[in-house]
Amino acid sequence: MSERFFVEQPITGSTAELVDAEAQHLTKVMRAAVGDEVVLFDGSGAEFTAKVARISKAAVTLEILERREINLEPRAELTLAVALPKGERQKWLVEKLTELGAARLVPLITERGVAQPVDAAIARLRRAVIEASKQCGRNRLMEIAPPREASEYFADDSLSMKLIAEPGGETLGSLPSEVSTIACAIGPEGGFTPAELKVALENQWRPVSLGRSILRIETAAIAVAAWSGLS
Ligand code: SAM
Repeated sequence: MSERFFVEQPITGSTAELVDAEAQHLTKVMRAAVGDEVVLFDGSGAEFTAKVARISKAAVTLEILERREINLEPRAELTLAVALPKGERQKWLVEKLTELGAARLVPLITERGVAQPVDAAIARLRRAVIEASKQCGRNRLMEIAPPREASEYFADDSLSMKLIAEPGGETLGSLPSEVSTIACAIGPEGGFTPAELKVALENQWRPVSLGRSILRIETAAIAVAAWSGLS
């Protein structure tokens, strides 16, 4: 069976358990039976060949046969801080950022933002990360970080290589290519306010241009992820 399944707990021993949606997927959708072999990953960077050992109503127990380290992570660790778009566009954004190898998505609370990153929405986005990782073969989960208020985030001095996507900024091609961590902020449909931009500039965030067209939030985030992941 070529499908991949996600295990919430780190796999350290000789068995693993699938529960909830993953157990349902294996037994109800894939109709797995005892003895079938599947691929598991736990978000740690490794993947595992495992054999179905027991199926119960609550869980599927699997015997671990082999562990492999398969690292598909890009060279630079990219954090995208994004004023999330509404509805299905959020899920689409998360799916594409996961495929492109972004390390972390920080939902940004901005003055002109429309989507409120409430707990239920964050849980849905985390599920979308798992689904995309199952499909694209990535063995580390993109982190959905707790929401941050934009001005507070801009003043965070633990970040390095701080970029803020802003029409008219410097081009991505002019930035140093040998960086290991990048944070990039993407504004809401109405853009960042002058006050938010002022805090960002005072804290050495570098405005970067993504071309002459005005991009939607998710297009801007994906453009940065593609630039960072492929360079
Ligand atoms: N109403 C805003 C304006 O006219 O500036 C556009 C906001 S845009 C829909 C949403 C966000 O995507 C912006 O705040 C910015 O962070 C990013 N963005 C969109 N197009 C961009 C571009 N060409 N260069 C840099 N950033 C861009």
